[in-house]
Amino acid sequence: MARAEKVVVVGGGPVGALAATALAKAGFRVTLVERRDDLRQHEEQELAENATDKSASKRSINLALSYRGIEALRAVGLDEAALKIAIPMHGRLIHMPDGTRRFQRYDETDVTNHINSISREDLNKLLLDAAAAQSGIEMLFGQQLLHIDKAGRLHFAKTASVGSGTYNDCAEGDLVIDDADLILGCDGAYSSVRESLTRLQSTNFSRRYISHGYKELEVRPDEKSGKYKIEPAEALSIWPRGDFMMIALPNLDYSFTCTIFAPLEELQSLSEDADIKAYFEQNFPGIIPYMPDYVDQFKRNPACRLVTSRVDPWNLGHKIVLLGDAAHAMVPFYGQGMNSGMEDVLELMETLSQHEMDITRAIPAFAVSRMPRGNAIADLSLDNYMEMRSHTASRLFLLRKRLEGWLNALFPSHWVPLYKMVAFTRIPYDEAVRREARQSSILEVSAIVSAVGLVALSSIAGLAFWSGSLNPFERTSLSGRSSGR
Ligand code: FAD
Repeated sequence: MARAEKVVVVGGGPVGALAATALAKAGFRVTLVERRDDLRQHEEQELAENATDKSASKRSINLALSYRGIEALRAVGLDEAALKIAIPMHGRLIHMPDGTRRFQRYDETDVTNHINSISREDLNKLLLDAAAAQSGIEMLFGQQLLHIDKAGRLHFAKTASVGSGTYNDCAEGDLVIDDADLILGCDGAYSSVRESLTRLQSTNFSRRYISHGYKELEVRPDEKSGKYKIEPAEALSIWPRGDFMMIALPNLDYSFTCTIFAPLEELQSLSEDADIKAYFEQNFPGIIPYMPDYVDQFKRNPACRLVTSRVDPWNLGHKIVLLGDAAHAMVPFYGQGMNSGMEDVLELMETLSQHEMDITRAIPAFAVSRMPRGNAIADLSLDNYMEMRSHTASRLFLLRKRLEGWLNALFPSHWVPLYKMVAFTRIPYDEAVRREARQSSILEVSAIVSAVGLVALSSIAGLAFWSGSLNPFERTSLSGRSSGR
């Protein structure tokens, strides 16, 4: 059994911090290197620098944690700690343009199924705390990977003060790690490990920016009660508006983080107070009383881009492998970016275990089996934008959801709605896509058969009526008259 002595994890985001802990627990010696300063010591420095007031600097960014992420946390004993700082969301709360609201439970068949709103920063701190407490892990902060050379040496440079938010003004030569048996690239969508991978071997890489971007805003707690302004708070609020939408996830401090997803050009072009006011009054009038400073927030907060990326292969032999956003950055419309990245870690550990911790066999096997799964969820995430911003407001969508709920209740192991497979199971994403295609074709065929049947029935009834042989209205009289009296 070849056992890796040393694993270097590049990136201390949720995926890197989790991977470091899982590998150290399995007996590897781990060095985690993160570009930023230690999150746990430099609370929200970046935000505080740019903020004009204290409350703005406390803006919390949250995300939805679901089954796959929770299972990965469970594997290192952190699921309960994470769920303690999360808020359950049982369904979607749809805010219609006319001000009415509809609640759509995520799973009508099993009402205990829910997703969880969690602060990105609190979760990352929890994971870094766990890594720091785990023996066998060395953590280095403020070191940016520049490149990996042909001999497998990692070259880092000290990053400039994190408060400035710039990481470009660094000089090579500060730190070189030359004894890594395995390098994990957990350094996010703009991964330097991936860049080295593409230089060290023939690697296909594509990046696609969608035309829509996002802007985050905040609904603060009610001034009088100190409680949530939107109730029920235990839901993911969506304001679907056809070509764009706003969503809101609750935070533990009774605030909500709202995100507008819309054409990036539009988000960037709205800069005058009057234009921003007109935009909100036309599209989101219901949110205005909850967010009195929406114009200031809109002007202050940046409009950000959304990117999907694909890389093939994910590995360089058994020396380098990519995980999380470094391997599969995706748009956030399925709430699976981080969940799938954490599941990467879980699946990596499962594959290592299947191969008796032999990285020479496990790493290539993992990279080959996991890649189609990462690509599948990236594709599904793109598709789900249409569902969220438009279909959630449609009655046909609701009808289909209800029908699928019934089918799931009747045939629980044979018919599972796509959202349920993705958010509440560990069915591999690519398998979920195949099952959904089969289910959809069954639904479509049934709909065609029913429609043809209905047309045939009404034609027969119509013919019979006009030919006088049978008057259906007489036989089934709506007035209650019966031929038998
Ligand atoms: P990152 O979080 O990007 O972490 C990478 C780390 O590597 C960072 O700490 C970075 O500083 C460090 N790093 C980068 N380069 C270097 C270098 N050269 N050297 C050293 N360190 C480096 N996902 C969900 O599951 N649910 C959601 O609800 C959800 N909502 C989202 C909403 C929005 C608006 C967006 C944009 C994303 C959302 N996501 C969501 C996706 C989620 O944020 C990412 O998938 C997740 O953060 C990826 O984790 P990661 O650790 O792979 O990468």
